[in-house]
Amino acid sequence: MRFYALLVFSFLTLAVNAQLTQFLILRKHVGFGYKTSESPREVKALIIHSTFNASFPNTQQPDTFSVEGVLKQFEQYGVAAHYLIGRDGQVYELVEPNNVAYHAGKSQLPDGTTAVNSCSIGIEIMCTYTVGPNEAQYASLRKLIDQLDTHYKFKYILGHFDIAPGRKTDPWHFKDTGFFRK
Ligand SMILES: [Zn+2]
Repeated sequence: MRFYALLVFSFLTLAVNAQLTQFLILRKHVGFGYKTSESPREVKALIIHSTFNASFPNTQQPDTFSVEGVLKQFEQYGVAAHYLIGRDGQVYELVEPNNVAYHAGKSQLPDGTTAVNSCSIGIEIMCTYTVGPNEAQYASLRKLIDQLDTHYKFKYILGHFDIAPGRKTDPWHFKDTGFFRK
């Protein structure tokens, strides 16, 4: 009896550990919307965005949260962010974090820096103007930010609207529970 109890306990422990370490970033590198950096670049800002697939009816399915649909849109506009978080919380790495991704557009950091793309990392969360991020996405965002912050020690963690006020309104319906560093 005691043996079985121990066995069950071991399995439970394994399951919990697997959950804790199961933060998988899927590499899905794109061929547009970025430029390669030859040397390690200085990154001082993390910018949070949101996006959705607005290409229907040009696509066959009205899939607002299609990763492929969003990537097609990015390609059309020649833009990309380093990471995209799908509705299921899956994190995709679209651009190597050391490369410069075109995600910020005309914008400015609080310290006056206007070349924001060159010194920042961009994260896109899949959501719409009316449907904000879900719990799985917030959980993945938290893990992703913690992981990146360990390496980059960001001076700023901001929303797109913070650096392009009047021009950008994303991330939409974003519940800030200590994400930002302004
Ligand atoms: Zn944005």
